Amino acid sequence: MLLNIHDLNVTELQTKLNELNEPGYRANQIFKGLYSSRWKKFDDFTTLPKELRAKLENVFQIWSLKQVDFIKSELDETTKFLWQLQDGKRIESVIIYEGNRVTFCISSQVGCALDCKFCATGKMGIIRDLTPGEIVEQVLVMSEQSKLPPTNIVFMGMGEPMLNYDAVMHAAGIFSDPEGMCFSRKKITISTSGIIKHIYRMADEDQPYSLAISLNSVNQPVREKIMPVSKKYPIQDLLIAAKYYTDKTQRRVTFEYVLIKGINDSEDDAKELIRLTRGIPCKINVIPCNSDDPLYQAPNWDQVEKFDQLVNQSHRTITIRNRKGWEIKAACGQLYAENESPIRKRKISV
Ligand code: SF4
Repeated sequence: MLLNIHDLNVTELQTKLNELNEPGYRANQIFKGLYSSRWKKFDDFTTLPKELRAKLENVFQIWSLKQVDFIKSELDETTKFLWQLQDGKRIESVIIYEGNRVTFCISSQVGCALDCKFCATGKMGIIRDLTPGEIVEQVLVMSEQSKLPPTNIVFMGMGEPMLNYDAVMHAAGIFSDPEGMCFSRKKITISTSGIIKHIYRMADEDQPYSLAISLNSVNQPVREKIMPVSKKYPIQDLLIAAKYYTDKTQRRVTFEYVLIKGINDSEDDAKELIRLTRGIPCKINVIPCNSDDPLYQAPNWDQVEKFDQLVNQSHRTITIRNRKGWEIKAACGQLYAENESPIRKRKISV
C-alpha cells in the first residue's frame, strides 16, 4: 500500500529518502513542491530528477481526500465541505469569512466520543481518528477553493483534537513549517472540551499554537449534564490546568462558552464565570447555541447581550461569535456526516 506523502514532515521525508538511497536535501525540494507550489502529481516536480519522480510514484500517493460536496451560504459565503476518506468514511470542514478574517475550521476525527449534548458530531459516536495527512489535505483543498487565503486555522470541526493529539500536532507542524506552508503558529488554534492531561502536555512541550477551552458552564453538575467528559475532568481541575498553561507558556487561553437558554445563561452564571476565571489571562468567546435539539436552544438576543455586558463589566475581553453558516448547518456544533458504518459509542480512555 502506498504511503500518504502528506503524513510526513520534512524530517520523516528525509529518513524515507535515505531508505531509498536518495540524498536528504531532496526532502526540502519535495516539501516546497507540495506546500509552496502546491503540485498535485509527481510529474509536476520538475525540480527533481525523472528517476526520483518514478521512485516516489512507487512509494507515495499524493491525495487521499475526495471532495464529495460543498455548500455555500447565500447570507455570508460560509462554505461547508464534505470529504470522503479512502476507507469511505466522511467528514466535514468549513470556511468562515468575517471582515479580513478567513477561518478554516477543520476536523480531527471521524465523529466524536465525547457526546456533548448540544453538538451534532457527538451524536455520531467515534468512528476513527484522522491521520495527519487527512488533516493537512482539508486545508490544502480548501485553500484552492477559498476566495482568500486563510488567516486562521482552528481545530474546532468534528472530533476532540486532544484525543488525536499526535496527529493534530504533527499536522500543525506541517502547516507552520517555514519550508512549507509557513502558516503563523499563533493563528493555529487547538480547541479542547477539557482533556486536562493534554493541556499539561501542550504546556510542557511548549507547543507554539493557541489553546481554546470549551468551558460552557461553571457549575459542575450542569457541566456534567451537557458535557459528560466533565465527570472525569472537573471544572476546578480544568481551570488549574488552564492557569498552569498560561503561566508556563505566557500565552492567553480562550474560553469558549456555548450559551444555552435556561441552562448556563443566568446572571449567576455570568458572575461565577468572572469569579472562576479571575487570575487566568484569557478571553471569553460566547457562542449562542446552534443545536437543533429543543432542549438546547440559544437564548434570545437580549439575554445574550445581557450576559456579554455582565462579563464585560469585569474588564474581561469577551466576544460574541456570529452564527455564521447556521442555515447550512456549518456553524459551531452543527457538523455531522452520514457514514456507512453504524454509529459506535465506543468506550475510549480519555
Ligand atoms: S463539541 Fe467537540 S468534543 Fe463535544 S461532542 Fe462535539 S466535537 Fe466532540
